[in-house]
Amino acid sequence: MTDTLSPELLARYADARLPRYTSYPTAPHFSPDVGEAQYRFWLASLPATDASLYLHIPFCRAMCWYCGCHTTVAAREAPVLRYLECLRQEIDLVARYAGSLLSVRHVHFGAAPRP
Ligand code: SF4
Repeated sequence: MTDTLSPELLARYADARLPRYTSYPTAPHFSPDVGEAQYRFWLASLPATDASLYLHIPFCRAMCWYCGCHTTVAAREAPVLRYLECLRQEIDLVARYAGSLLSVRHVHFGAAPRP
């Protein structure tokens, strides 16, 4: 869609630091030893800041031939609905422990690229 790449949009981000997909904390911090208490501590330790949220949705209706993302073609709705319920619970958890610290400025949805 070329109309989404308007000159105004390009100018807006030409010299800006763009959001970058990552997790908090970053992936190397996670292991099977990390439990709820540790995760709660990490969330509560965030500084008050603006935040951009990335919500990973790893399901597509069909696979694009050029796709390089972590995604699955969902033939049924049940796994997608289960995933969305887990995502809702994760949003509730983060809001409970870090919601007062974060001012959400952007929300991005997508399927992250494969490493
Ligand atoms: S993640 Fe994007 S590129 Fe990959 S199959 Fe889904 S819509 Fe297509």
